[in-house]
Amino acid sequence: MPRREQEKKLLIQNLAKYYLQKWIEILKLSAWQISLQVSEKFKNSGKIKRDYRYLHAKMTLSAGLLPEQVEWIVCHELLHLLIEELPNLLFVLKERLTAQEAELFSNAEEGIVERLTKILIELKGEQNES
Ligand SMILES: [Zn+2]
Repeated sequence: MPRREQEKKLLIQNLAKYYLQKWIEILKLSAWQISLQVSEKFKNSGKIKRDYRYLHAKMTLSAGLLPEQVEWIVCHELLHLLIEELPNLLFVLKERLTAQEAELFSNAEEGIVERLTKILIELKGEQNES
């Protein structure tokens, strides 16, 4: 990997670690064990894999994020943990839902998470800290 890309990845990693700590505290998610991976191969902005039984989660962020996007994405992914009951319920119901119904459910979760992210970043984001 070229040096500049490596430095960029390191910057995203450090920002992500910082915001992860910050938002784990705000959202009171310290019961979770959350590992972080920044990957240059990852095409989306971020994702989080959750294991509700053991409260383990693995967050993956794209190394291609802009520094100013990192806090938003970290907060967004953590909110998926905060509302864990919903996706957990979807998992339980999965066999009884059509693919289309499951997709509606997932889209609704995304919408809720995105709205909460906007509100929380406005309240607690770096730009607004004094
Ligand atoms: Zn999401």
